[in-house]
Amino acid sequence: MSDQDRLDRARVSPKKSLGQNFLHDPNALEKIVAVAEVEPDDTVLEIGPGTGNLTRVLARHAGRVIAVELDDRLLPLLEREFGDQPRVEIVHGDILATNVSRLIGESDYLVVANLPYYITSAIIRYLLENKHRPRRLVLTMQREVAERLVATPGDLSLLAVSVQFYGQVKIALRLNPGAFWPRPDVESAVVRIDVYDTPPVSVPSERLFFQIVRAGFGQKRKQLRNAISTGLHLDKAEAERLLIQAGIDPQRRAEALNLDEWAALTRAAAETDLGKRFS
Ligand code: SAM
Repeated sequence: MSDQDRLDRARVSPKKSLGQNFLHDPNALEKIVAVAEVEPDDTVLEIGPGTGNLTRVLARHAGRVIAVELDDRLLPLLEREFGDQPRVEIVHGDILATNVSRLIGESDYLVVANLPYYITSAIIRYLLENKHRPRRLVLTMQREVAERLVATPGDLSLLAVSVQFYGQVKIALRLNPGAFWPRPDVESAVVRIDVYDTPPVSVPSERLFFQIVRAGFGQKRKQLRNAISTGLHLDKAEAERLLIQAGIDPQRRAEALNLDEWAALTRAAAETDLGKRFS
């Protein structure tokens, strides 16, 4: 049965405000699960099962699927299909208000999801900043956002630096709008993030690292000496000293710095009062 028939029968119409573009292309669904390398003993967290298209494929490969759906109109439909499948658990809720550790328990887990595009960045940050991080994430998102995530120094953003700090990111697939119903206005891509056991750069405090990166990107296109001074409440001379100590030209801009340079700046800052403030 098509998504449209399934929803018509349940007298439900897709809600644009919840990012409801259902992925109906069977080929694309299989490819996504293949990219995720889901094994029979894996626990998979799915965000937004919708009408269950991806859930169905995941359930065939994983040991356990936990799917969190916000839209209560879709719950009866999901319960009807997956209610008697002991390996699939449908949870009603907002992923951004869900205690993932409590939901998953101790076990290691993967996240595989066709994200609601209106909260892509918030979901990625929420999952990666969690203490109990997934081992791997395979996420379908707007192609433009995917390209921002894999950007290199010169084009980096706060989101890219944050994601690249936690994991190795690559674009695994590109999907065109015809793979979805209703057809979205944008192209899509599937991103795979393999989460590191330890970050690729050494920092004395993750909190201080993110405080500095946020300050750096806080003022678009401003030179770092200005952005760092405003964001960290330092006078300009102090901000400049810090940057020079880290081997960074104070006139450079945040988007140009690589992870090693952000880490060097964090280490220099940790030696000052900032270290105490943010440790
Ligand atoms: N997985 C399905 C598929 O691939 O066809 C549906 C994907 S659709 C792009 C996104 C889904 O996320 C929708 O079912 C939507 O209701 C749900 N959703 C939106 N916001 C959510 C939130 N904050 N928490 C959990 N689910 C959410």
